[in-house]
Amino acid sequence: MSIQIPRGTQDILPGEVEKWQYVEEVAKTLCYNYQYKEIRTPIFEASELFTRGVGDTTDIVQKEMYMFEDRGGRSLALRPEGTASVVRSFVGNKMFGHPNQPTKLFYSGPMFRYERPQAGRYRQFVQFGVEALGSEDPAIDAEVISLAMGIYKKLGLTQLKLVINSLGDAGSRNAHREALINHFKPRIDEFCGDCQNRLEKNPLRILDCKKDRDHELMSTAPSILDYLNDESKQYFEKVQKHLSGMDVEFTVDPTLVRGLDYYNHTAFEIMSDAEGFGAITTLCGGGRYNGLVEMIGGPETPGIGFAFSIERLLSALEAEGVELPIEQGVECFIVSLGDDAKDYAVKLLHNLRAAGISSEKDYLDRKVKGQFKAADRYEAKYVAVIGDNELQENKINLKDMATGEQEEVSLDQLVDNVKSKLGK
Ligand code: AMP
Repeated sequence: MSIQIPRGTQDILPGEVEKWQYVEEVAKTLCYNYQYKEIRTPIFEASELFTRGVGDTTDIVQKEMYMFEDRGGRSLALRPEGTASVVRSFVGNKMFGHPNQPTKLFYSGPMFRYERPQAGRYRQFVQFGVEALGSEDPAIDAEVISLAMGIYKKLGLTQLKLVINSLGDAGSRNAHREALINHFKPRIDEFCGDCQNRLEKNPLRILDCKKDRDHELMSTAPSILDYLNDESKQYFEKVQKHLSGMDVEFTVDPTLVRGLDYYNHTAFEIMSDAEGFGAITTLCGGGRYNGLVEMIGGPETPGIGFAFSIERLLSALEAEGVELPIEQGVECFIVSLGDDAKDYAVKLLHNLRAAGISSEKDYLDRKVKGQFKAADRYEAKYVAVIGDNELQENKINLKDMATGEQEEVSLDQLVDNVKSKLGK
């Protein structure tokens, strides 16, 4: 029996993988433009990093982590998200001591969550994310949000909705927390088991519950915006002012709470409004996490970041019908006939490639017609045709496949000729 691919994972095949490369490249280029530098961290970490960093009341830690014991008896987890690892590295490598602050980093790589697989939800998915550590300036919040929007816009997405909220500082959160407990407590037995557990530990997350989202107490729950103290209010206003100044459109949604425990002040999500995108419309989520660095053993350092998956980004591009400008075709295909010409084609192909021209030839001993068909399948821009006679006369026939024009070129000038035609 053949072995099946694990549930919730996918192979990314040639033809599709170029789209991944393209979007990752656009995102990376924009990050460098904003002065965010790449960081690569391990795919597995001590499980404790996530129980501490993501929070042990979260679904991720309680239900979704791939945990295992290694041969040395250590409890390890495949990373379910990127922020905790980046913060661990920030602390371990004492990046806070570097003169350039804030520390601005981005990452891209596979994350793992044992979730119920469905459209837009995988067990292995690739997250692209950024983190800015060491600044509490609302301008950084606006910068991070505008960077996320900038990546999507640069790729051609237009049907986007940016939603922001403030969760306030510790004081505001505590006041809101009390209000939430008082609101839900009298009727908590009407809620699911998860919500009952969350009531005392983290009542904010009740608002995020998928099972109970239609319960009447949800829509009447106290809004965090009514509990923001003056400082938190001013902070949130400043973020909004900066976003407006950058012409980044947004709406404020006081019910937006993020799934992870460590957020405060700014929280945001970017959704796709495109028809046919599917039930899960969130493309990107992020927010401020002052306090996380301390929780992971570092000095008090504010931070903010976002993460999005390439899987959902590509579905949004498809839903909006955006064609990425990906060149898949080969630049020059060599058609050869006759034994000497065939041997010569091997060397010629090597020379074309050495000159930076993407090139291919036949390896299946096809007839000339079959070789031309192959050149078509490879979407060749130019086809160079050589037979034993041409070889003796030191000539080769070059065909421009777009115009159909043909010319005879001296063999030793072929590489330069093709190169200049391609503008290389
Ligand atoms: P989170 O870390 O849960 O806030 O998720 C941030 C972003 O990661 C989401 O907005 C999605 O783009 C993406 N994401 C999270 N979980 C998955 C998943 N299981 N499959 C694909 N993408 C995901």
